[in-house]
Amino acid sequence: METKELNAAQKYYLKNKEKKKAYNREWVKANPERAAASRKKAMKKFLTNKRERFNELILRNYYKNKRQWMIRRRTNYMLKQANKPLLIKYQCLHCESKENLQLKFNTYPENSLGIREAVIKGDIFYVCKECKGKK
Ligand SMILES: [Zn+2]
Repeated sequence: METKELNAAQKYYLKNKEKKKAYNREWVKANPERAAASRKKAMKKFLTNKRERFNELILRNYYKNKRQWMIRRRTNYMLKQANKPLLIKYQCLHCESKENLQLKFNTYPENSLGIREAVIKGDIFYVCKECKGKK
């Protein structure tokens, strides 16, 4: 394999990589709102400019965790069922917020009976977006 010639900027970056990473980490800690805005902007750019790559990543994730996807889908279906719906308390388990809720799965049971048991045991519950980010 032939070695690639690096320009001055690349050499400088490699030399100070760890220092720059540490500085960046500090900056993110000091400016969480600006960092979040920056991440959002980068994600939007990625979604528009490299849509095909994004779809590829999502599909790869789907095939890798197909079983989990199916069980999440089944649980969401069971929540909307007219007769005998799943009874999961619609609030965040940690902060009791009722906004931006997402289902959290500690286990992935095989069938609908297993899902009902997991809900009763408390292995499937709602968490809000903020609490999910923390853990
Ligand atoms: Zn919460």
